[in-house]
Amino acid sequence: MTEGTERERPRGETGAGHGVGADAPPGGDVLARELQGTLPCARCGYNLRGLSVRAVCPECGTPVRGTILAMVDPFAEELRPIAFPRVIASLVVLWGAGAVAAAAAVWWLRGAELASMIGVDLAVPEWFGAVPAAGVAVSGVGALALIRPHGGIAPVASVAAGVGVAAYIPLAYLMLILHANVDRLSTMPFMGRDEVSEMRTLIRLGIAFFAAITIMGVRPNARLLGSRSLVMRSGRVDRQTMLVMVGALGIASAGDALRLMAVGGLGDLLGTIGLIVIAVGSMLFTLGLAGVMVDVTRVARVIVSPPLGIRQVLYGTGDERSP
Ligand SMILES: [Zn+2]
Repeated sequence: MTEGTERERPRGETGAGHGVGADAPPGGDVLARELQGTLPCARCGYNLRGLSVRAVCPECGTPVRGTILAMVDPFAEELRPIAFPRVIASLVVLWGAGAVAAAAAVWWLRGAELASMIGVDLAVPEWFGAVPAAGVAVSGVGALALIRPHGGIAPVASVAAGVGVAAYIPLAYLMLILHANVDRLSTMPFMGRDEVSEMRTLIRLGIAFFAAITIMGVRPNARLLGSRSLVMRSGRVDRQTMLVMVGALGIASAGDALRLMAVGGLGDLLGTIGLIVIAVGSMLFTLGLAGVMVDVTRVARVIVSPPLGIRQVLYGTGDERSP
């Protein structure tokens, strides 16, 4: 994430120029300073502005240094500025939320099919078959933000994200064909096994293919945006959710392949195993999607209110390099 950016030494490491002077031990300069920027106490929220770095919070006694460690992102000043943070943050949320809505709608359709097997009619309206495709389309619009979320993006990452966004078009189209057209031909599109189901399986394989392209395409820039969050960069939360999702698509596709073989006459058992494998892959995929949604809200928050930098806290400045 830091490619192409200069890493400036924090003021004070040089020990020169201001503060307590040249004889001070390294870091003494910073420690002697009073905070000129706003810094809410990590424990009670009291504004520590004007206090020494060595002081404790007058409200709750928490050392100011503790708050700095907890609240200040050492790489905040290296983050590329985002020109339209609210637009980018909103699009990133759309990207995740659209995909979650699509997955939820598919689960609802399959749930309704299961319910119908035990004689419960959930009365899903006909238009609902278009909801998964609509969710995918919304996600694709949001993914536009991942082509070039800020300056300094590697061209190859922008191209990859562009391919990923383009793959949303066949993806949404196949989702529409599957859930709004093909599934209307059969009362039990997923559980049943006939010619319709064979066509359905082929479409599902296409959907998995294009979904994998969208995920892998936008992944580099999605991770780059994710690295703006201190929590995510430090590995305190797992960062491989998108790879897990691609793996889950692979598992579900293996299940589809089994079902294709079953249609070819290899028997019920194979078809049933295929169903189970698809269900496992779909659950894994949905779990991954839920993880992405959690990360997306985290990233959106960091985009709208960027992390505090040490300069900002010590000198009350953001971009300026001098106090
Ligand atoms: Zn406090």
